[in-house]
Amino acid sequence: MSENGHEHEHGHPHAEPKHETSPWAARIRAVEELLAEKGILTHEEVEAQIEYMEARSYENGARLVARAWTDPGFKELLLRDTKAACSQLGIDASGTVEFVTVENTPATHNLIVCTLCSCYPRAILGRPPDWYKSPAYRSRAVVEPRAVMREFGLEIPEDTSVSVHDSSADVRYLVLPMRPPGTEGMTEDELADLVTRDCLVGTAVPREPARV
Ligand code: FE
Repeated sequence: MSENGHEHEHGHPHAEPKHETSPWAARIRAVEELLAEKGILTHEEVEAQIEYMEARSYENGARLVARAWTDPGFKELLLRDTKAACSQLGIDASGTVEFVTVENTPATHNLIVCTLCSCYPRAILGRPPDWYKSPAYRSRAVVEPRAVMREFGLEIPEDTSVSVHDSSADVRYLVLPMRPPGTEGMTEDELADLVTRDCLVGTAVPREPARV
């Protein structure tokens, strides 16, 4: 019910879904309508931003990792200036805040979380996995990271320390996993295929490819 009796008269450019939308979707549509109505942004801008985000993927991170595994100079750059390393591979990193790569070693395993909400390097890796946004992951990753990783099927040796990094509005993280053994003869593309999205968050590590 609107106080001034104003009704929406303009058409909505989105194709309306046939099924019933959730209350959350309805709310988002309403907010978008209001922002457009007040001239703060246009539907075209919203569409363009959705397209931009959909074009991002964890595969960007896998490419960074594979290059770092095969090129020591690139690895040094990735750890020192992750955005510059992105640029070198033609990955647009302009849309993200401070972006830091943390390296897994036999001594330290890194795990990424956002305890406050769901901060994630979306501008590089696209949308985070759903579990990343769950209250359970956000609280437990800090308190009992080893137990959480065990539930992902990842057992970290007792003599490896676990370092948990809390993402924020100011800084986002990428995990550089260790290169698995038995991959010496593999090409950069083959190596990138070993790197899953979860490897970049630290809830998984790249597996040695099965030998046929
Ligand atoms: Fe957040």
